[in-house]
Amino acid sequence: MVGIFQTNCWVIESGEDALCAVVDPGFSPRKIWQMVQQLQLKVKFILLTHGHMDHTLGVRYLRRKSKAPCLMHPADRPYQWRWFNFAAPKCVPVEDGQSLKLGGAEIKVIHTPGHSPGSVSYLVNNFLFSGDLLFADGIGRWDLAGGSFREIVKSLKEKLGPLPDSVEIMPGHGPVTTLGIERSRNPILGSELQNSAILGSELQNSESGGESRGVRPQFRSPNLDDEA
Ligand SMILES: [Zn+2]
Ligand SMILES: [Zn+2]
Repeated sequence: MVGIFQTNCWVIESGEDALCAVVDPGFSPRKIWQMVQQLQLKVKFILLTHGHMDHTLGVRYLRRKSKAPCLMHPADRPYQWRWFNFAAPKCVPVEDGQSLKLGGAEIKVIHTPGHSPGSVSYLVNNFLFSGDLLFADGIGRWDLAGGSFREIVKSLKEKLGPLPDSVEIMPGHGPVTTLGIERSRNPILGSELQNSAILGSELQNSESGGESRGVRPQFRSPNLDDEA
């Protein structure tokens, strides 16, 4: 958890390749960098779920240290860095359906607009890094620049709908949850996604034999509570 907005920063480890991807380095990039070095990992990607400052502020420092590219959906370019006039770092554009290789692991990009036009979620095996789309017991705000309630509901329904209940949600803020839990208790997601649950379990069945690499990515969130 980093910074005054308590943004979650996640580090995805590829397993035996000692590669990692850092998701949303908001604040405290020095601590994130320290942790990555302690774990002797090489940062391959800096992944942004969207362009809001509380998720992107640490990018420049981390990029300088790691030389890793920063990835973001181009629709959020006009929205990033506005608040404090920071020069935008060059981000490599990502698009819906794109697949990123992190060693033996695969990171799938899912464009999930609504909180912002360029919001994406990253799916790694059974883990969804949902940014500010979906939280435990809530969804992201849609009233900020470029946000849309219609879009956020559409993203939840059409993009998350096909995913099985077992998917673990690693949100941009707050505690970890699962799609199943949110479908049962989240006021918006529950009503919007119940119809898709059957589709989700079909997808799970059809894919159960496909993951044969034995890749087990691990996830860490730097414990940064002690930093002001
Ligand atoms: Zn946001
Ligand atoms: Zn946020």
